[in-house]
Amino acid sequence: MGDRIARLIGAAPGTVVMGDTLSIKVYQALASALEMTPDRRVILSDTGNFPSDLYMAEGLCRTLGGRYRLKTVAPEEVMSAIDDTVAVTLLTEVDYRTGRRHDMADLTRRAHERGALTIWDLAHSAGAFPVDLTGAKADFAVGCTYKYLNSGPGGPAFIYVAPAHQEKTRPALSGWLGHEAPFAFDLGYRPARGIERMRVGTPPVLQLAALEAALDVWDLVDPVDLRAASLRLQDQFIKRIETQTTGLTLATPRSHLMRGSQVSFRHPEGYAIMQALIAEGVIGDFRAPDILRFGITPLYIDEDDIARAAHVLTRIMEYSHWDRPEFKARAKVT
Ligand SMILES: *Cc1c(COP(=O)(O)O)cnc(C)c1O
Repeated sequence: MGDRIARLIGAAPGTVVMGDTLSIKVYQALASALEMTPDRRVILSDTGNFPSDLYMAEGLCRTLGGRYRLKTVAPEEVMSAIDDTVAVTLLTEVDYRTGRRHDMADLTRRAHERGALTIWDLAHSAGAFPVDLTGAKADFAVGCTYKYLNSGPGGPAFIYVAPAHQEKTRPALSGWLGHEAPFAFDLGYRPARGIERMRVGTPPVLQLAALEAALDVWDLVDPVDLRAASLRLQDQFIKRIETQTTGLTLATPRSHLMRGSQVSFRHPEGYAIMQALIAEGVIGDFRAPDILRFGITPLYIDEDDIARAAHVLTRIMEYSHWDRPEFKARAKVT
């Protein structure tokens, strides 16, 4: 299953394994990267990163006795913040709120020039557009399979370790299935060869079965075609909203190079507007404080869906349909 994911993210066979959740994989990658850069003390991330990635880093820093520091800068400032103190950059390629996309190859080059390692979180990249971990020379990558890869909620995460690092990587979560010989039941831990050591415990077999079925479709998909279709639908949606509606501000960059596969708009009443949309069967997300997020997934969304979503949103705005108490009561999940 790891090799099937590898094909979608520009990774060689034998560089990806499945298991656990993305938060766990972030922790694993970070712990290994820090051990490989023992003279440095800074983990560099950005304020657009998904909070769980930052929380995992905070927790690890505490476990390591406060010797490490998590530093976050604005996404546009990451490049200039990579200096000789940075042990590792921990970045999510596509910002979960705005959809702004980092230049993975450029930032990785800069990190390597400064002697730092890179961890790329591909949560909003894998299955969204062609990813080239090998070409970018990424050191570590992690991601989940329940967003653009359609494995369903709770689907397993993945972790990538560059071939050159695999034998140097010492797993902090040294579970039995990452052991060289799990069924020898030795009392001491010896890491398995290569990427296998990043396994921890028993894999979620039922969810892997769901993922296996979800991945079948990718055998028929050309990622370049998928990207073209995604950008076409994104542009169609942006154009319709900007010409038909007032009050919504585009949060996603206009440049195609700086986009993932989502379109986000800002509005102070974003939460209520999204609830009104969902009530009409147009399902997106609200991300605090003011982001309406629309996932553009050409595998199952076409021009008619985009036209309909834009039409429904336009009417909600025009008649202030969102301005009702039931749309303003905050649910736990947004
Ligand atoms: C969705 C997402 C997560 C979620 O992590 P889980 O452990 O799978 O719940 C973490 N990081 C990023 C960047 C995400 O987008």
